[in-house]
Amino acid sequence: MRIPLDRQNGIPIYQQIESHLRQAILSGNLPAETRLPACRQLAHDLGVNRTTVENAYSALEADGLVFSRMGSGTYVLPVYPLPAISKNNTDAPWPLWQTNLQRNIFSNSDTADEMLQASGHPHPISFASGISDARQFPVDEFRKVIQSVMRRDQIDALEYGERRGYAPLREGIARILASQGLQTHPDNILITAGSQQAIFLTSQVLLKSNDIILVEDPTYSAAIDLFRTLGFQIVGIPVDGQGMQVEKMETLLQLHHPKLIYTVPNFHNPTGTCLSSARRRQLIMLAGRYNVPILEDDFVGDLRYEGHTQPSLKSLDPGGQVIYVSTFSKMLMPGLRVGFIVADGPVNESLLNFKRLSDLATSTLIQRALDAYMTVGRYQTYLHRSSQIFRARRDAMIAAIERHLPSGISFETPKGGLFIWLRLPKSLSANDLLPIACKEGVSFSPGNSFFIDGVSGEDWIRLNFASQPIEDIEEGIQRLGTAVRRIKTKKK
Ligand code: PMP
Repeated sequence: MRIPLDRQNGIPIYQQIESHLRQAILSGNLPAETRLPACRQLAHDLGVNRTTVENAYSALEADGLVFSRMGSGTYVLPVYPLPAISKNNTDAPWPLWQTNLQRNIFSNSDTADEMLQASGHPHPISFASGISDARQFPVDEFRKVIQSVMRRDQIDALEYGERRGYAPLREGIARILASQGLQTHPDNILITAGSQQAIFLTSQVLLKSNDIILVEDPTYSAAIDLFRTLGFQIVGIPVDGQGMQVEKMETLLQLHHPKLIYTVPNFHNPTGTCLSSARRRQLIMLAGRYNVPILEDDFVGDLRYEGHTQPSLKSLDPGGQVIYVSTFSKMLMPGLRVGFIVADGPVNESLLNFKRLSDLATSTLIQRALDAYMTVGRYQTYLHRSSQIFRARRDAMIAAIERHLPSGISFETPKGGLFIWLRLPKSLSANDLLPIACKEGVSFSPGNSFFIDGVSGEDWIRLNFASQPIEDIEEGIQRLGTAVRRIKTKKK
């Protein structure tokens, strides 16, 4: 086989071989089932190293263009072209059952960033996301850990694994929780696919359709979507600077007989507030008196930048009243999809059974890698570093807000977490502002998607200060200021 190679153009030789073969396969010059020359032969013909040819073949194999048959050689695979457009974009007549599906019940938090991307701005800046900064992820360290776990554990790393999750990981989590004042046995921990699955499983176990759930209003939008999808009636409790207004709870407990209280007591999403110590104790007392379980969602509890850590509800639990869920998504990386539930009593077994029905197990390989990565010391160091970075970003965002946004806005400084919850000047609507802000190249989450009725909170926005570097925070808030001024002049 003849492949023209250019040793001067700076493109690695293996890539030149690969792209020549790729074109030959895609154009049909090398049809399916063609046997490629043996690596040694082609290397000899081209006057290159054998590994160079092997690397080219591996790259083609990784893209599904060829496959190697043990002892027999490397063969071209048939090419299956993908349709040019997604079928969803066509006007195809769908079967009736498809058109009858319930639509648009979701608050759809992705729309802000879709709108930002669609604006075509050359340097879009998103403050809409719900996670910390992907640029901080320990990518290289984690890759090495996965490799060493594969080497160490071999097939064990690829089995379904233990029902509750990998025991050493659960022990590690129990140690981290103990360092935060929450004492629990590893057997009371169930590993889940993120805390979203933990919320899903808990509510599935405890509630049935039409049951009532009490939540903070506003609250985490995907929790609202989930509860609504499962057919629950959602009753809201307002939030102030001290978190959920627990004083209003007793009347609601008597009136509605809820089956669950869902709360985000630390650095609440979206408001960033923390439930005060007194309210925590009152909440536990009321839940006990009215026999209602509490689902405590501690999604960023560790990311505290100042002030004292409050005891978790679970650590105040006299026994079996609180189901605690947390996640490695915000503190580490969301794509791991590792979260966990801490629960005591018979509910533990029910959660375990539902977990099995839901997905059999959370990835064994990822759990083992996380365990190998996350010694308590490393976790604390990582947390310390992240906290310092995010605190500086929070301060930068507050300074930028004060510099670039007009008077009439208001917000409270969050003591941790990811979000600033900001009230726009009176009569400004976040949903009117969003498209104009996106045109300027900045996005945020409009407040109404966090409210149960989907319409309150028109004049609120959630800004994620942790996900962007300081220069972009300054630039992004400046753009937001321009958007606010634009909409104000338009209104006049
Ligand atoms: N709880 C809250 C309050 C959240 O904001 C999120 C994600 N944004 C989750 C739970 C779920 O996250 P994960 O499934 O990645 O753990």
